[in-house]
Amino acid sequence: MSSPLARPAADACPGALRLHDAADGPLARVRIPGGRVTGAQLGAVRELAEEWGDGHVELTSRANLQLRALGGAPPARLAERLAAAGLLPSPTHELVRNIAGSPLLSDPAPVVALDAALCADPALAALPGRFLFAVDDGSGDVAFSADVAALPTGAVLFAGRDLGLRAPGQAVPALLAAAHAFLALAEQDASAGGRRPWRVRELADGPARMAATTAAALGVTLLEPDPSLRRPSPREPIGVIPQHGGRMAVGALVPLGRLGGAALRTLETARELVITPWRGVVVPGLPPEEADAWVRKLAGAALEVGADSRWAGVTACAGKPGCAKSLADVRWDADAATRPGSGLPVHWVGCARGCGSPAGPHVRVEATGAGYAVVRRPGDDEQAAAPVPVAEVAAVIAALRKG
Ligand code: SF4
Repeated sequence: MSSPLARPAADACPGALRLHDAADGPLARVRIPGGRVTGAQLGAVRELAEEWGDGHVELTSRANLQLRALGGAPPARLAERLAAAGLLPSPTHELVRNIAGSPLLSDPAPVVALDAALCADPALAALPGRFLFAVDDGSGDVAFSADVAALPTGAVLFAGRDLGLRAPGQAVPALLAAAHAFLALAEQDASAGGRRPWRVRELADGPARMAATTAAALGVTLLEPDPSLRRPSPREPIGVIPQHGGRMAVGALVPLGRLGGAALRTLETARELVITPWRGVVVPGLPPEEADAWVRKLAGAALEVGADSRWAGVTACAGKPGCAKSLADVRWDADAATRPGSGLPVHWVGCARGCGSPAGPHVRVEATGAGYAVVRRPGDDEQAAAPVPVAEVAAVIAALRKG
């Protein structure tokens, strides 16, 4: 139900230069490798949203920024302004700068180095826009959703699986070699008459072939996989979090992933920010004496700084009116039906495409046109779930979140 049988050979992921024609107007997605953006850069994006868009900046499940309803934006001027803010370093590679980073990564240098090396490699501009790299801090919070991920131990995972590739101190060369391996294997599969893969899991025997091809390119031998490398429970950074060197980070959730003018102006005053894959923001690297003031500032901007927030673990796709495919205004309904709770993440979607769904186990709340089908994924068959009206969704979600 969720995967169309036919699709174009090339993915159509939106970007800063390739705008998507959404129901509410052109939509631009700005890649933010590792989710790391300066306050000044966020300010530049806010100005674009206010000048040409709907005044909001959205956060995506890959920690990118999105602008909607850009009907009045001259595309060339939009690109110029993003480039001037340092958010469009490579027109040829803008769609492939898909790099997830652990939000609490103590040293973002590998993300920066990977981005630079990726953009300097002409062949890698051919990667699909869905192919995702990850630089993980060892917590596993981003590694298991990516196509290729580097861990601090030197382990390199393929589609979340450890096949025994170890490249200590060589994260960037290993990830680039993996990307080249993907392009070669995808070409092989497509030449054999298969559908051109966009993700490692779509390759025939993908993780194993990727590991073998990458190991050969690096000149290393595959070791025994580590069975303890498993996907952890999601870890949304909320409130005050100690960091290395006595510094502090302050994390907040952004309800429904939409930042309005007041929140944006508050966040812009930070020197550095991290967008999280859970549609949150982190202000990192603070002296301890500034942390509480940031908690108050973020709360004052209607961001959620308490672990007991009703929005903890809850996300939604765009839905109506922004998406023409949507069968409901899922953000409105999610706001009405979301109660404080814990357990599995919850993702609301306006149709069976399921955009932005978490990679791991979660509760899916899918609009059907006659209420919502609420199911656990993976596991339940949503076709078998009888839709329930919005008024009853909260109780069904609460029961399913318990796992
Ligand atoms: S899941 Fe459906 S309704 Fe939601 S954004 Fe994707 S296509 Fe649109």
